[in-house]
Amino acid sequence: MRIAVIGGGTAGYLAAAHLTKHFRDLVNLYHIYDPSIPTIGVGEGTTPSLRYWLKNTLGVTEAEVIARCDATRKYGILFENWGRQNAKFMHHFFPVRDLYAYHISARKLVELLSEHVVATHIHKRVQDITQDEMSAEITFDDGGRLGVDYIIDARGFPKDTGASRIELPWIPTNSALIRRGPVINGGTLQHKINGMPFEYTSATRSVARPHGWIFVIPLTSRTSYGYIYNNQFSTPEEVRADFEVFLGANCADCAPAENHLQFPNFTRRTFFDGVVMNIGNSASFLEPLEATAIAIALSQINAFSRWPLGRLANSDNTVLWRRNRHNAEDLKTFNTYLLKTIMRISVFVGWHYSMGSRFKSEFWSYAQSRAKSVPENLPVSSVDLKTQWKKVTDAVSHLPHPFEDQIDFQHVCEPGPRPNRPIYGMFTPESFAEVGHGIGAL
Ligand SMILES: Cc1cc2nc3c(=O)[nH]c(=O)nc-3n(C[C@H](O)[C@H](O)[C@H](O)COP(=O)(O)OP(=O)(O)OC[C@H]3O[C@@H](n4cnc5c(N)ncnc54)[C@H](O)[C@@H]3O)c2cc1C
Repeated sequence: MRIAVIGGGTAGYLAAAHLTKHFRDLVNLYHIYDPSIPTIGVGEGTTPSLRYWLKNTLGVTEAEVIARCDATRKYGILFENWGRQNAKFMHHFFPVRDLYAYHISARKLVELLSEHVVATHIHKRVQDITQDEMSAEITFDDGGRLGVDYIIDARGFPKDTGASRIELPWIPTNSALIRRGPVINGGTLQHKINGMPFEYTSATRSVARPHGWIFVIPLTSRTSYGYIYNNQFSTPEEVRADFEVFLGANCADCAPAENHLQFPNFTRRTFFDGVVMNIGNSASFLEPLEATAIAIALSQINAFSRWPLGRLANSDNTVLWRRNRHNAEDLKTFNTYLLKTIMRISVFVGWHYSMGSRFKSEFWSYAQSRAKSVPENLPVSSVDLKTQWKKVTDAVSHLPHPFEDQIDFQHVCEPGPRPNRPIYGMFTPESFAEVGHGIGAL
């Protein structure tokens, strides 16, 4: 079976390494990208799923991740100036004592992953993809062609707009200014969990500002700063000026060079059409407030590996299985599962804006009104997100704070196994409670 992964960014390398590890006997892998098209180069806050994947799938130790990728541990996100009740609040990973993630250099992560890929490497620009129900043909800009059974398309933000994708307008940002500074000592953050002191060394800072919010990601070699804003309400000059004020207080020696990015908040309606599977920024994008992109890319790769690849690996007659697989119902189920996940995560991200911030500005009025109208504006009736969101907000509305109330959270949620199962997207009741209390919505 011939599979092409197109894309040499984080998503493409995650996919190529995953397929190398799990399907080396089944798959003849081609890894294709054009080095003259740069990767997006951001994506340095992660969730615990990347840590587990690096350890369990690739067998990479934490010491190696720290040494090779300038990684620091991330125990959550420290929100500052969000909502009107609390100057600061943490959003942890749950259960807190066991769960942390990494801040990681995006470039060095790709270098590490590249050592785990066994593939035929093709460094060319893809001009076109044509396909029928069972295969695809890739045409390169030099006229060369390659026929494959499946394509994993990780070419970054898609150029096509229109009916093939759904915009997610409750996320109110669309632009970013990125700067770099020297290493900072994150200091020690302290918390009490059920009355017991618990200390951790670092968290991503997410600081609300008049034009949006700023992330601060500490690595062992440098610090990454990003001002996330909406270019409908603020000019780059205005944002730059406020960024300078923030950096002046936080980073006297920041490098003057900046990277200016624009991004769409969107999801494809169809991720997999039977031959081409889109992953990473080519499949969907949500602003980086909860740093979910790498986790989403991993979940897309996992889903594709379980079905169809997992089934194919166990099938006696792969051609027959693939013909049957084209039944529209199976594809619909698969795509609906992926779509639901993105939509739910996007709604949770949008909810962060629903109580505004300490700042009264055009941006924050817009952001708050967008977030408050989420249930009315959910566009995918077939996924029935409206009902689900209503159920979730009703269910969380009485949740106490997971730490401050010093109760065993399990007893407050449904009886049964540990409650750290996701209830919406990838977020647990504890996440809803901690963010909800933090912004002042609960
Ligand atoms: C401001 C900002 C902050 C972010 N912060 C985070 C974060 O903290 N955490 C997180 O998880 N995510 C974050 N992200 C998301 C981040 O972009 C993704 O995690 C990740 O980098 C995925 O990128 P990608 O691999 O899909 O695409 P890209 O990095 O854009 O890679 C695309 C690849 O495709 C290749 N390519 C494109 N077209 C062709 C062609 N025609 N032929 C051949 N090759 C081609 C390119 O050469 C490149 O190798 C952030 C995004 C933004 C905008």
